[in-house]
Parts: sequence; structure tokens; C-alpha cells
Amino acid sequence: MPAIASEYLAIDRKKRARTPSLEVATRPVTERVCDFEDVAIPMTPEQAQMEAARCVHCPDPAPCVEACPAHNDIPSAMWLIEQGEFLEAAQLYRQTSSLPELCGRVCPQEQLCQGSCTHLKAFEAVLTGPLEVFVCDYERQTVGVDVVVGEPSGKKVAIVGAGPAGLACAEQLIQQGHSVTIFDAKPAPGGLLTYGIPNFKLPKQVVFWRWNDLERAGVEFVPETYIGKDKSIDDLMSDGYQGVFIGVGVGVDAPMEVPGEDLPGVMQATEFLIRCSLDDEQLLPEEMRGRPAVGEKVAVIGGGDTASDCLRSALRLGAKEVTCLYRRTEYEMPGGLHDRELAREEGAHYEFLTQPVQFIAGEDGRLAKIECLRMELGEPDKSGRRRPMPIEGTNYIVEADTAVLALGYWPDPIVGETTPELDTHKWGLIIADPDTGATSRPGVFAGGDGVTGPDLVVTAMVAGRKAATAIDEYLNGLN
Ligand SMILES: Cc1cc2nc3c(=O)[nH]c(=O)nc-3n(C[C@H](O)[C@H](O)[C@H](O)COP(=O)(O)OP(=O)(O)OC[C@H]3O[C@@H](n4cnc5c(N)ncnc54)[C@H](O)[C@@H]3O)c2cc1C
Repeated sequence: MPAIASEYLAIDRKKRARTPSLEVATRPVTERVCDFEDVAIPMTPEQAQMEAARCVHCPDPAPCVEACPAHNDIPSAMWLIEQGEFLEAAQLYRQTSSLPELCGRVCPQEQLCQGSCTHLKAFEAVLTGPLEVFVCDYERQTVGVDVVVGEPSGKKVAIVGAGPAGLACAEQLIQQGHSVTIFDAKPAPGGLLTYGIPNFKLPKQVVFWRWNDLERAGVEFVPETYIGKDKSIDDLMSDGYQGVFIGVGVGVDAPMEVPGEDLPGVMQATEFLIRCSLDDEQLLPEEMRGRPAVGEKVAVIGGGDTASDCLRSALRLGAKEVTCLYRRTEYEMPGGLHDRELAREEGAHYEFLTQPVQFIAGEDGRLAKIECLRMELGEPDKSGRRRPMPIEGTNYIVEADTAVLALGYWPDPIVGETTPELDTHKWGLIIADPDTGATSRPGVFAGGDGVTGPDLVVTAMVAGRKAATAIDEYLNGLN
């Protein structure tokens, strides 16, 4: 932070650290459970300045910068915000992140930047996520956001998948002057930002604002084109694309493989969430239109972010009792803590160490009960989490007329299967260099969940940016 060194020396660190944090402001529970609108209340400029002034400016490397997968220069942004230089702070975020207005809203900050804040030793962390959102929204509302387009290089790149990885890759490549076309199986861009994460966490409008920035910069979007079926990667190469980025995510809901899974009343998380969050018929495939019908007692099975989103969506659909069934304890849950706290506040219950073993129909043929088994924790598995082990003879019944399966996601193997010489793992994830996204096929790069398995918006975004740098180098080396 060279520009602020003199002021920095004068910082009264103890005073800064002892200043109480603002609460993350959310709409009242009774109000927010009645709709699917944004839960968060934006900060005012004064609040943003006060909160940013709590940063004690740790010496390099600051833990928050290290913990951010994009390595955003958070301490410098805090300093700029404290001075009221909101536009400069937004620009700083945009140097290292292609989607700051989105990451600020959906990153599990308590596990990343805020979770590493030195304040946490005695006080509350600086609210770095909401501050990132504040400055990016301020920038959009005051001067607007433009993506600067580079000198035309004459090179064409095809991107498969318009999720965070694909969008970030496009944002970087268009700035380097390459012509970019994104192909996606869905009608609209955004990947899980549009077709997954609920509106109450991430208003769709924010996704489309960012997409419009890219579209204005010249990124072309080809909807409803399923690569591997409608066209292959080889077809794209024959169509004159000199480089291809594959950012296809992991879109297949993991099955539970227990009896009764196909009963009416048992739903998969993705379709459930898409139907809850998208009203615009233009954005939805025909078979997915209309809110899902839930009964009074909803059970959500799983422990990740998707499970929290389903619990909160079921409450908004009017269910009276909404319970999460999870086979380990809360400690092993992979989903973000903040989302879980909001789900609890809104009325969701949790039953831990519980494994459904059968879905049972009532007289009308629809789901009526779930037979479950109590679990205990055994030795840690490969992920380091303790393995859930069934306790024989502890079967019991949970009454439920609706169940939502939020068990995780598997990759769709079609791109790997239809692309000669593209190496994949046997379960379908694409093998790519973590630093460059380079795959076994020259000119073909990959990144995001389709390479790592289910992860985060920010990690997919970073992978898209890294691949863009490598694609640029590759294209510059051609001819
Ligand atoms: C319900 C839910 C909630 C989540 N909440 C959070 C959260 O709060 N915070 C967070 O950080 N992360 C969250 N995540 C995870 C995050 O959304 C993903 O890690 C991230 O979107 C991955 O980005 P991606 O670009 O790799 O893939 P995706 O976002 O999955 O996008 C892939 C795109 O590729 C397209 N596609 C796939 N196959 C093909 C094909 N063959 N041809 C053409 N197009 C294809 C798909 O239609 C899709 O648009 C959540 C995930 C889910 C499911």
C-alpha cells in the first residue's frame, strides 16, 4: 500500500480493532420468508466508511488477501473506502476479480477473507464481503461498468459453458482483443448463478447486469447449444475457433439410490431451486416452468449450500415444517455457516447423524414418510471428514410429504466422451493443469467445477481467468 504509507503509520490499531462491527443487515425474518427477493440490505456510504475504518492493515501478506482465492487487495480497498474513494476501490477489485459484485454476495466469506481477519482473535471480522458489494453497486449506479476491449487480434475463442468460469474467461479474453463466443445448453448465461443459487441470495438482476457488460463489450452468446450433442469440440475447431475453453461445471444431481426415490413428492434440488428462483419463462426450459408444489412437511437431504438453499426456498413456498436430514454432524457440514444461520432464523430444523434408507408412499401413492437410520461417526475418510457409520436397529420414521434431494453433483461426461484425446478422470471430470487450464488437447483449456468437482463461484472465476492468460499466450504463439 505505498500510496497510503504515511497515514498508515498513524493508524491507531487498537482503536480500530475495538470499534464494534456493523451487523450484516438483513430484512426482518417475517418479511423475507414471504418472497424470493434479496435478503440483504445494502450498506449506506457512511456505514461503509465506518466499517472499512475498522481494518487494521495487517502487514504483507495480509491474511485476508491470502485467504481470498482471487487475492483481492482487500486492505487497500478498505483504505480507499474509508477515504470515501468508492470508485477507486471498485476498480481495485476489478483488477483481480471478473465478478466482484457476485463474489461479494455469494462467497462464504466466513471461511475465506472474513474467516482469516486478525480481528477474529478478539473482536468481529471486518465485513469485507458486503463492502465489496457496496463499492461495486455504487460504481454501477453512479458511473456504470464498462469492460475495456483490446485491439482486435483476429483470433476467435469458443467458450463452452456460461457459468462463472466461462464468464471470467470471456471477460479476460475480450480485453486481450480476441473475439469470444460462449455456447451454453441453457437459454440464458450465468450457469449456476442463474440456474441454481436462489434469488434471495443472489438477485438474478445482478447476474444479468454483469452479463450485459460483457455483451456490450462484444462477447457473443449462443444459447441452447449442448456441446457433445448439437456440436462437438472438433466442430468448433473446424468452425475456425483457434482456442476452446471448457467450463461446463458439474450439472448432474447425485442420486440417493434408495427405494422410493422416484415417488411423487421426491424432487431433485436443481430443478426445485430453478423453479423457485426464476419467473421469466424466457429463461426456463418448458418442462421446468412454474413453482414446485410442496406439502406441509418438507425434508431436505444433504449438508451443503444447496441444502441450505432448498430449506430456505421450501419455507418461502409455505411449508410448515422444514427439516434438514444430514448423515454427519454440523461440524462436518460442507455448506457455509452464514447461510445455515439464516436458514435457522427463518425456521429450518436440523437432524444430524440421520440417513434416509427408504421413501414410503401413503395411500394416494405420494411420499408420506421417510424411514431413517441413526448414524455415528467413524474414522476420517479421504476428505478428512469423519465417516458416517449406521447404527443397526435404530430405524425410525420422519413424517414428510415432500423430500428434496440435495446430495451433491456429478459431472456430465458428454464433452469428454465426444472429444478425442481429451483426458478425463474415469468419473468424468476433465484433467487440466491447475495453473493454466491446459488439457491434453492442444488449444483446449478447461476450468471451474468441471475440473475440480463442486467448489465455489470464486474458485471457478479464478480458474477462468488463469485459463484466459494461458489461452492468450497460446493464441499469440500461433502463426
Ligand atoms: C444450489 C447451489 C448453491 C450454491 N451456492 C453457492 C454459494 O452460495 N457460493 C458459492 O461460492 N458457490 C455456490 N455454489 C457453487 C457454485 O455455483 C459453483 O461452484 C460455480 O457456479 C461453478 O462455476 P462453473 O462455471 O464451473 O460451472 P456452472 O456454474 O455449473 O456453469 C456451467 C455451465 O455450463 C453449461 N453446460 C454444461 N454442459 C454443457 C455442454 N455440454 N454444452 C454446453 N453447455 C454446457 C451449463 O448449462 C452451465 O450454464 C452453489 C451451487 C449450487 C448448485
